[in-house]
Amino acid sequence: MRVGIARERLRGERRVAATPETVTQLKALGLEVLVESGAGAESGHTDASYTGAGATVVPQLTPGDLGVYCHVRPLTPEFAATLPAGTVTVGLASPASELATVAALATAGVTAFALELVPRISRAQSMDALTSQSLVSGYRVVLEAAIRFPRFFPLYMTAAGTIPPARVLVLGAGVAGLQAIATAKRLGARVSAYDVRPASADEVTSMGGTFVNLDLDAVEGAGGYARELSEDRAVRQRELLAPYVAAADVMITTAAIPGRAAPLLVTHDMVTAMRPGSVVVDLAAETGGNVEGVVAGQDTLVPTEGGDGTVTLVGMKDAPSTMPADASRLYAKNVANLLALMTVDGAVTPDFTDEVVAGACLTHAGTIRHAPTAAAVT
Ligand code: NAD
Repeated sequence: MRVGIARERLRGERRVAATPETVTQLKALGLEVLVESGAGAESGHTDASYTGAGATVVPQLTPGDLGVYCHVRPLTPEFAATLPAGTVTVGLASPASELATVAALATAGVTAFALELVPRISRAQSMDALTSQSLVSGYRVVLEAAIRFPRFFPLYMTAAGTIPPARVLVLGAGVAGLQAIATAKRLGARVSAYDVRPASADEVTSMGGTFVNLDLDAVEGAGGYARELSEDRAVRQRELLAPYVAAADVMITTAAIPGRAAPLLVTHDMVTAMRPGSVVVDLAAETGGNVEGVVAGQDTLVPTEGGDGTVTLVGMKDAPSTMPADASRLYAKNVANLLALMTVDGAVTPDFTDEVVAGACLTHAGTIRHAPTAAAVT
C-alpha cells in the first residue's frame, strides 16, 4: 500500500509528517512511501535523505495514487473532497473547529484519523501527538519569555552585587505547563504554578515548582481533563490569581479545555498591575487566549498602571513549528506508530475493535464517528 507524505501548504507550518527514520520504519512494515518534494526542507531533511531511506520523492502527490495520506495541519475541505473513497488520512484535524473539512472527509468516504483523538492511555502514548507537540511548545514558550525579559532568570552572586532570580508563574500545568516549569527551573528561575485540576499539584512539585493553591473547588472532567468553569467561578478564580500575577516577573499561560475556546485567566487590569519589564507569554493565544487582549503572533506592549513602563504580552503562534526538527522527529514517530498499529501484511487495515484505532477515527465509510464532532456538524 502506498503512503504519501505531504509538503505542508499552510504558511508558518514547518513540520513534516515523516522523517527518513520513520520512512525506514514504514518500509519495514511493507508499505511503499512517497514523499512530496521539499516536504522535509524546513525540518532539515533533504529529498535525497528520504530517497536514501527508501522513499520515492515526487514533485506532487496525486491523491488517487495513494492508500494513505499523512499530513501535519488539518486538510482543507476542497482538498478533502478530492480524496478517493477508502483513502486513509492521518494527521492533526482540529475536529472542534474544522467542521467543513470533517464534513467533506465524511462525504468523500475517507477514513480519517485525527491525532488529537488518540486516547490518552498508556498503550497509546507513543502515538500521542498532543503530548509530543506540547512538550515542544512548553519548552519554547519559556525561551521566548527569557529573551524578552530584561533580566536574568538565575540568581547570581557576584563581586558586583547579587542578582535575584526571576519569579516565573505558570498557569495551566498540563503537558506544556509542566515542560515550561521544568525549562524555567533549568534556567534558574523560582517557579510557581497553578492548575484547576487538583491532581496537578504533585506533578508541579515533582518538576520543582511550588503549587499555588487557590481556595477554589476542584473541577476535573472526563479523561483527566479540566472542565469549563462557570462564569461566577471564573471571576473568583481571576480575583484569587491577581496577587500571584502581580508578584510574577514572567508569566506563562497554557490553560486549555478540549474542544473549547481557551479560558480567560488574566484580565487586562491584572497585566497592568505587573511590574515594568515583566513578560507574559500566552500559549493559548491561537484559541482565544488566557490573557485579555493577546494577539496571536504578535508582541503587545501594555502600559503598567503606574505609567512607569510596560509589560510585554506575547501571543504565541505555531509554537511547535518554531522547532521544526525535533517537533517533526516526535510527530513523525507518532504517525508511524499509529500506522504500525493498523498495518497487516503491508496494508493499513484499521481494526475498529481496538480502542486506540476506534478512538482516533474521525470519519469512516461516510459517517463521522466522533460523536461530539458529528453533533456539531449536523
Ligand atoms: P490541555 O492542553 O487540555 O490543558 C492544559 C491545562 O490547562 C490542563 O492541565 C488543564 O487542567 C488546565 N486548565 C484548564 N482550565 C483551566 C483553568 N480555568 N485554570 C487553570 N488551569 C486550567 O491539557 P493536556 O496537557 O493535554 O493534559 C490534559 C490531561 O491529560 C492531564 O491530566 C494530563 O496529565 C493527561 N495526560 C495523560 C496522558 C496519558 O496518560 N497518556 C498523556 C498526556 C496527558
